[in-house]
Amino acid sequence: MIQGQCLCGAVKYRYAAELEQSILCFCQHCRLAQGALFGWNSPIGKSKFQLLQGETDLQEYFHTENKARVFCRKCGSPIYSYRKDLPNVLRLRLGTVTQGVIPAPKEQAYQEYKPEFICIDSSS
Ligand SMILES: [Zn+2]
Ligand SMILES: [Zn+2]
Repeated sequence: MIQGQCLCGAVKYRYAAELEQSILCFCQHCRLAQGALFGWNSPIGKSKFQLLQGETDLQEYFHTENKARVFCRKCGSPIYSYRKDLPNVLRLRLGTVTQGVIPAPKEQAYQEYKPEFICIDSSS
């Protein structure tokens, strides 16, 4: 069981399963969207994701035609993204998780954009 929320608390969610993996993404879209060095995501099944509150506070942004980035319109916290051609999978933004176990990242995408000072052991 995973629970999480945005910064202001307007959006709260629950995921009725365990996270199977976590992924770091260093691509420029993730950096710009998160305002951070990388995105930290986990693909989850939409059917087990439940919005507890804040449905009307969620805003979708399509930077590319196929991919929605969904965030809290009050505080800007990114909550998840999804692809139109994969509507049953959400990519949860793991920085918003407040309860539950997040697996250490096993996958790092777009490492060519990874700053040299970041050392992440994803071998274990
Ligand atoms: Zn918020
Ligand atoms: Zn990315």
